[in-house]
Amino acid sequence: MHHPSHISPVVTPRPVTPRADGRIDLIGLPRAEIATHFAAAGLEPKQAKLRAKQVFHWVYHRGVTDFHAMTDIAKAQHDWFAQHFIIGRPEVVEAHVSTDGTRKWLLRSDDAQEYEMVFIPDADRGTLCVSSQVGCTLNCRFCYTGTMRLVRNLTPGEIVGQVMLARDALGEWPKGSMAGFGPATDEDDDEGGDYTADGRLLTNIVMMGMGEPLFNFDNVRDALKLVMDGDGLALSKRRITLSTSGVVPMMARAGAEIGVNLAVSLHAVRNEVRDEIVPLNRKYKLEELLQACADYPGANNARRITFEYVMLKDKNDSDDDARELVRLIRKYDLPAKVNLIPFNPWPGTAYECSEPARIRAFSEIVFNGGISAPVRTPRGRDIMAACGQLKSTSEKRTRAELDRLAEEKSASLMLGA
Ligand code: SF4
Repeated sequence: MHHPSHISPVVTPRPVTPRADGRIDLIGLPRAEIATHFAAAGLEPKQAKLRAKQVFHWVYHRGVTDFHAMTDIAKAQHDWFAQHFIIGRPEVVEAHVSTDGTRKWLLRSDDAQEYEMVFIPDADRGTLCVSSQVGCTLNCRFCYTGTMRLVRNLTPGEIVGQVMLARDALGEWPKGSMAGFGPATDEDDDEGGDYTADGRLLTNIVMMGMGEPLFNFDNVRDALKLVMDGDGLALSKRRITLSTSGVVPMMARAGAEIGVNLAVSLHAVRNEVRDEIVPLNRKYKLEELLQACADYPGANNARRITFEYVMLKDKNDSDDDARELVRLIRKYDLPAKVNLIPFNPWPGTAYECSEPARIRAFSEIVFNGGISAPVRTPRGRDIMAACGQLKSTSEKRTRAELDRLAEEKSASLMLGA
């Protein structure tokens, strides 16, 4: 297994536009860039700016994918737009619905990279779990995605495209008049206008799918800005959570420039154990990570930091571990809640899930320490909703296999030389 300090988060850059047919996909572009492209394609600057504002609204707020449906743009101009631009969506390779309502999609980019998104409906909310990278460099030992090679960062369009595709699939783009519509504010969880988010299925977003979002900071930030834009997808930052495995140097920037809720993949309370389970810990130790959490802007009792803790038998699940967790949270004075996640085993894993009684005992100790520690019910197991499982099955190749193939290839090259 490689050591994270040798990992460079810089991955293969990829030009977003233009596509093979010469048209430019507007998904992922902010207003100003849309205006620039409109001007470059021949509109007067003033007209480009106005059209960009209108198109932005149709694209991100109304979910329209056809320029001909944009009723406030002159009909004569519709064809011109369609000749130069498209409003794309990720290609759906597979779509599954679990018996518990969880939905999972395997998506493909136009350069044939596959990534996943999962929608988890609950009584009071519907959460979309969004991917930030194809594969992941971090190799967390309990995570199936960690067995894949990192291929590349997802672009802002591919990130926001997941949210748009989910809205398409759930049939939730707003209809009706936009009168009275105004930008979402901190106090205003949902949007204005003559519709509300009540009854909406997709109410929350977690950046918790494939990849480490803070290793793809700029694209994740730019995508989330479109999601939070009052005239875009208009989801409040309070309904968005970014999950990191502990990229300490980027956490303050995430707080300042994105400002969404923070979740941390903690999974262990001692450096020796966390070094093994979350190898990034060898670079950024627990103490640094917890200090960065304490410094995270905007964290308070109303907006607590979530600590994710996967329950691994005889690894991180003792009473002592639970007590240490409480001690650390108190020591750093963290407004925190803990999610206990029963481990979902996958082929080839070295770990087992803790016994239910052990998980309950752990939860109770943390709870008695004054910290909420619910045990998460595994969702969508029948459709392999755990992170990375659909893609891995699709590829039928594990990291070990890929490494073996690479070794064979270099061995045969050496033999040839
Ligand atoms: S848990 Fe997240 S950061 Fe760790 S390997 Fe899996 S996808 Fe990457």
